[in-house]
Order: sequence, then structure tokens, then C-alpha cells
Amino acid sequence: MVTPAPTTASRADRADRADRADRTDRTDRAWAVAAAVPDPELPMLTLADLGVLAGVETDDADGTVTAWLTPTYSGCPAVAEMAADVDRRLRAAGYRDVRVRLRLDPPWSTDLITAEGRRKLAEAGIAPPRPTTTAEAGPVPLTLGLTRTAAAAAPVPCPHCGAADTEELSRFGSTACKALWRCRACREPFERVKEI
Ligand SMILES: [Zn+2]
Repeated sequence: MVTPAPTTASRADRADRADRADRTDRTDRAWAVAAAVPDPELPMLTLADLGVLAGVETDDADGTVTAWLTPTYSGCPAVAEMAADVDRRLRAAGYRDVRVRLRLDPPWSTDLITAEGRRKLAEAGIAPPRPTTTAEAGPVPLTLGLTRTAAAAAPVPCPHCGAADTEELSRFGSTACKALWRCRACREPFERVKEI
């Protein structure tokens, strides 16, 4: 958003603009601090990569900074750890009055994982989730036939060799959000983040 600068500005106008810029700066800095916190379960991803950091607000009047997190799924034990990490890092960065709140609506979906996040997952040998094609919530139906959604029908390429000839070994991997797969081409097992 670019607003042309007026040719003449009162001192009060300039002070007001400087103040607004200052506030934006503080919010941006707080965002950057919270955004860099790693996810406890997928530590190669930051909360920003994962789409878990929903917003950061700073309040000039009382000096508070509020970070909003959208947990990956309700009851996720990692939520408390994420919130504590964000709180600790913001305090370490000099913010004294820190609040971490949960925002459950709209709910988190694997579609919120950024392109950078998907790249980092693949680099770590974890197959990223496929895009969910419909707005329907809940597990993707695995019925064989024409009722399969595009997401369920899409192959899961092996993160090691790229082959599409892969199979699921177990619905649950080392954490509830991952499934254990195997590549039939290179024989390597791998984990993949399940779509939600
Ligand atoms: Zn492979």
C-alpha cells in the first residue's frame, strides 16, 4: 500500500507517521521472532512454515504483544510446547508483556504449509502432504473407485528417489501427524505428513 507523501506536512503529521512506522516495525520484529520458532514434532519447519503462526499484534497503549497460534489439530500435545517456546523467545527478544493465544477458527489444514515448508520436508526425506482439493473436513476416504478424491488418488512420490511406486505401511509414524510409507523402487521407508 503506497500513499503519496503530501508536499507539506505538519509536524504532528510527521510524528504520527513516524509513530505508525515504528509500531509496524515492532510488530514485524515480533512476528519474525515468533515465526522462527521450530515446530516440536517437525523441527525442520518453523511455525511460519507450518502455517501455525496465525498472527502477531502489538499494543502501544499497554505494551503487550499477542501471538496467535492455530494448532495443527486439537489435543495436539505439541501446542503447549509451541506456546511456551513463542513466549520464551519473545521475552528473550525484549518483549516483557507477552500473550500467546490459540485461534481455532479457521482450523489448521495441511494446505497452510508454505512452499518453503514443503521444500524443507522433502529435503528431510519426509513426503509433504498433498493439497486437499475439497473443502470437506476429516479423513480422506480411501474407497477404491470413482469416489476417491483427487488428493487420495494422487501418487505420493518417494522423497528419496522420486518414484511414484510407493505404498503405505502404517497409518501412524513416529508422531500422529505422520504415516509410514515405503518406496517399491528404492526400497527405502519414509514418513509422510498426512493431509488434514
Ligand atoms: Zn524411492
